[in-house]
Amino acid sequence: MIKKSSNHINQNEGTIFERSRPGKVGYHLPALDVPAEDSLIAARLLRDDDLAGLPEVSEVDVIRHFTRISTWNYAVDLGMYPLGSCTMKYNPKINERVSRFDGFAASHPYLPDEQAQGNLELLKRLEDALAEITGLPGVSLQPAAGAQGEMTGLMVIRACLEARGNARKVVLIPDSAHGTNPASAAVCGYQVKTIKSTAEGAVDLEALRAMVNEDVAALMLTNPSTLGLFEENIEEVCKILHDAGGLVYMDGANMNALVGVTRPGDMGVDVIHLNLHKTFSTPHGGGGPGAGPIAVTAELQPFLPVPRVVVEDGKYKLDFNRPQTIGRVRAFHGNYSVLVRALCYILTLGAEGLREATETAVLNANYIAHHLKDDYELGVQGKAMHEVIFNDKRQQKFGVHTLDIAKRLIDYGFHPMTIYFPLVVPGAMMIEPTESEGRDELDVFIDAMKSIAREAEENPELVKTAPHNTRIGRLDEAAAARKPVLRWKPASKAASA
Ligand SMILES: *Cc1c(COP(=O)(O)O)cnc(C)c1O
Repeated sequence: MIKKSSNHINQNEGTIFERSRPGKVGYHLPALDVPAEDSLIAARLLRDDDLAGLPEVSEVDVIRHFTRISTWNYAVDLGMYPLGSCTMKYNPKINERVSRFDGFAASHPYLPDEQAQGNLELLKRLEDALAEITGLPGVSLQPAAGAQGEMTGLMVIRACLEARGNARKVVLIPDSAHGTNPASAAVCGYQVKTIKSTAEGAVDLEALRAMVNEDVAALMLTNPSTLGLFEENIEEVCKILHDAGGLVYMDGANMNALVGVTRPGDMGVDVIHLNLHKTFSTPHGGGGPGAGPIAVTAELQPFLPVPRVVVEDGKYKLDFNRPQTIGRVRAFHGNYSVLVRALCYILTLGAEGLREATETAVLNANYIAHHLKDDYELGVQGKAMHEVIFNDKRQQKFGVHTLDIAKRLIDYGFHPMTIYFPLVVPGAMMIEPTESEGRDELDVFIDAMKSIAREAEENPELVKTAPHNTRIGRLDEAAAARKPVLRWKPASKAASA
């Protein structure tokens, strides 16, 4: 049984079916002044049941029902969303406005090129901007998410190595990588070998040298890593791979820490994917649409997905004639409206604004690290980039763990941080404030975290049983996973089921 922790009616709204009362309606149609439908429509096309089971509700029932449940969401428009690795920055409303312009929102993907010049120009301008930002000249906007970008990038690497004569067998991945990396390598038919990080969280160069040979196709490197650290030996890492005929894939989902300051292409990276829905500010989460474009070196360009947007005689055109392409990875042109938002974000900020956003993201994470390091133990030594990781070692002696701290944070009105990730930091609490937060909001968050640290010491039960100010109390996560209740049934049927 789920524990309800609030008596407030807004917080106890049931399903719309529970509001149903026989005969209630939300509309009144005028009397029919044309022949009744059964004389116009063939009898076999008319339904013969009585729509049993649909809720019978009034207009005000419907409005209250949906308005109440709409208040149960947490959103970045409501408050800080410090979910590390996810870059939950504020999404400027101008992006939404522009993506809804008819010319973007209502144009059909099968429009002939001549009638879609503006749409194609947008794709080209975004490609050019991302090439400039990454320092890598070949961009494909097709992949629909970061993980699909990884797969596409590895397919491009495989095609290039095949063209050189040998696709090779192994992809090396540091233990601080994002979990999607090994999954993508496996999907592309590569065997994954893990490289251990040094105590400082960097790639162990000796271990790397020992593992690189003519079987290694590529190294997949998350930079900054999931420890929030910049890979300071990146140039040496690239050199080791290149000398052995391998390539370097950079997971660029954390580009929020680098944009406008430094460019992966200049460091020697061959392929990168970007998460437009993170770094370039389009709403994401809950499985909504994203975009995971890849950028590659000139050598890898011929293998990019088709079609490519090209300019011929001053006109934009889709080019399918690329003999070495890996083919399509997605229908049409990617998640187009996400691409519109991302270009809008890039153009409204401009080069200087993008750099300032990066610097502020890094400053904000370090501000939190500085103010909380006396209350929580830092999970990683080293200079934090755009996110900071603590662990629960100091709270454990009071029986309070990371999960309890995250749940208690909900009572203070914040979305919890990312917890128990990355796996290499036991009890990790990963906080990414992003550049969207001003100092006032950061201070309120820091106060909440300090207050929870005090509670853990003085009243650990309060933290261990949190949350208390929410609609429902703490859920049994094991039961939710093992015995999920995915469907509501009317009381009569639930009893007999
Ligand atoms: C979010 C993230 C991914 C995966 O991106 P999706 O768009 O969710 O597929 C990959 N790597 C890192 C480092 C990430 O933060």
